[in-house]
Amino acid sequence: MENNTVDQFMDIRAATVAKMLEEKEKGMKVVGIYCTFCPQELVLAAGAIPVGLCGTREEPIPAAEEVLPRNLCPLIKSSYGFAATDTCPFFNFSNLIVGETTCDGKKKMFEIMQELKPVHVMQLPHRHKAGASLDLWVDEIRSLRTKIEAELQVEIKDEDIWKAINLVNQEKKALKEISDLNRNSPPPMSGLELLTVVWSGGFSFDKKELVEMLAELKKTLESREVDPQFAKKPRILLTGCPVGLGSEKVVRLVDELGATVVAMENCTGYKTLELMADTTKNDPIVALAEKYLNIPCSCMSPNPYRMDLLGRMIDDFNAEAVIDLTWQACHTYNIESHEVEKVVKDKGLPFLHLESDYSSSDEESLKVRIEAMLEMIEK
Ligand code: SF4
Ligand code: SF4
Repeated sequence: MENNTVDQFMDIRAATVAKMLEEKEKGMKVVGIYCTFCPQELVLAAGAIPVGLCGTREEPIPAAEEVLPRNLCPLIKSSYGFAATDTCPFFNFSNLIVGETTCDGKKKMFEIMQELKPVHVMQLPHRHKAGASLDLWVDEIRSLRTKIEAELQVEIKDEDIWKAINLVNQEKKALKEISDLNRNSPPPMSGLELLTVVWSGGFSFDKKELVEMLAELKKTLESREVDPQFAKKPRILLTGCPVGLGSEKVVRLVDELGATVVAMENCTGYKTLELMADTTKNDPIVALAEKYLNIPCSCMSPNPYRMDLLGRMIDDFNAEAVIDLTWQACHTYNIESHEVEKVVKDKGLPFLHLESDYSSSDEESLKVRIEAMLEMIEK
């Protein structure tokens, strides 16, 4: 029997809810975040717990549609629906919500969410390298620091930001090392296991504990006896919009059809795992601004680093085909699929763009399309 199996990660979310219930009584503060662009190091430096609030389930969407347009991305509707129906314990626990002006749907949703909780929206520039973008983002991170200090009644010291930077850098390194194990053949983790680890880790109450859990899991996976037959399964790279437990249908269908998702380039996967804040900088806010401005999200225009990352991941993980999963009405990822297809075709691999939502109504047609793509893989 394996110790430190992936199953332990399944329990993180429930354990954090229980712990937060206890700690809230003692005055612990929680900051809810919706996007990878939020510099969670500032939250940790304030002695608070950052928690991801992105909705990955279909259930609250009808309630959201009473306020938001129906033809909006399911991630936004699910996120708002959980908040509006007060069915997400983490939203309930949050003292402050941090949003960013990433895509149009999200930024306008945050305006409405302010009716429910204090929401601070960071103005995100949309060009990676421009000097003016960096100046603006530095200012925005300084404003966030001031907002957290005021809202949580704490002082955020530079030395605490550096400590938090080190901790988050360690977390990213540990997650990358786990994800990189799937470069092997056969891969030690199925797609669903990979998703469980990286998604559940985001709910951890204590990042130090999470880093230790990841180190233990790495040892377990390195010595795992994987059926050699698994090496015959077609290796799929998943890219596109974020996916979590509840919206994992494509990862599951790939598995059911005899292939396996060996890596995910999206925000729940590898997208930010190579990005570390530079600890040699004089100012921790500048170090954070440079790190976060490099995130290859489709809201950035242009977004060359995503194509570069995809190309490298295809090679590193020996991908045999790429699925680009985009949520309905996500204009930026849907349009960027054109560029993604070129990167994949240049590598001579089959490419499949799937546009879907959180319902199960299209599972049969998704299955047929994935099956057709798998038939194109040369063995
Ligand atoms: S895909 Fe872009 S907008 Fe969505 S969570 Fe990631 S960085 Fe944020
Ligand atoms: S999936 Fe697309 S539309 Fe939905 S929140 Fe993310 S970037 Fe916005």
